Amino acid sequence: CGIVGYIGYREAYPIVIKGLKRLEYRGYDSAGVMLYDGSSIQVTKTKGKVVDLEAKASSDMAISGSIGVGHTRWATHGVPNDVNSHPHLSNSGDLAIVHNGIIENYAPLKEELIKRGYIFHSDTDTEVLVNLIEEVQKKDKLKLGKAVQVALNQVVGAYAIAVFDKKNPNEIVAARLGSPLAIGVGEGEFFIASDASPFIEYTSNAIYLEDGEMANIRLHKPMKVRKIKDDSLVNPTIQELQM
Ligand code: GLU
Repeated sequence: CGIVGYIGYREAYPIVIKGLKRLEYRGYDSAGVMLYDGSSIQVTKTKGKVVDLEAKASSDMAISGSIGVGHTRWATHGVPNDVNSHPHLSNSGDLAIVHNGIIENYAPLKEELIKRGYIFHSDTDTEVLVNLIEEVQKKDKLKLGKAVQVALNQVVGAYAIAVFDKKNPNEIVAARLGSPLAIGVGEGEFFIASDASPFIEYTSNAIYLEDGEMANIRLHKPMKVRKIKDDSLVNPTIQELQM
């Protein structure tokens, strides 16, 4: 039930792990992390606590990368186990997603994707969403942001998401409807989290996405926030956090 993301110049892993611990109060049954080190995506995830994730990551993964997303899961679709934990990858392995919330119409979407040859490894609604984004991206030759937008317009439900695409790795796309999501804006770095507590010591500038908004969070470029429904640009309010 928590999301933490980082894109910038620091090592992402300690920021993500510390952030997940600060979100533990929200409750969860599993935890996971994705790191991108400039060439490949690595994922470690497990049923259990963030300390269990740390133990698994230290033996299973080369902990490096300045882009990362982490998740604590409160299972809604699929039992709490390692496979159903987030992040979830798309079939190509290029896209990674973390998601809080529920995709209510996942069943017909999943059926359609299976017809198109997609394979599902988990029982989650979330894995349907990441493959829907991939399918939209392939079919319409869209960049990640556009593909996320088109996919979300086919979805009924509630979500806070962060999505990463290895094909265009200077970017994380975030969106929310019914679940909170804050973006910390630093110098040459951005933070994404369910509340501001994971990034308060790094920046005092936060943007709280409103329901129905999505953000293209790009390194060395201004962040764009737009409405998922009609693509109109939003001028986000930057709030000053009090330490
Ligand atoms: N519906 C998703 C799942 O069951 C996300 C749950 C959550 O909010 O953590 O995996």
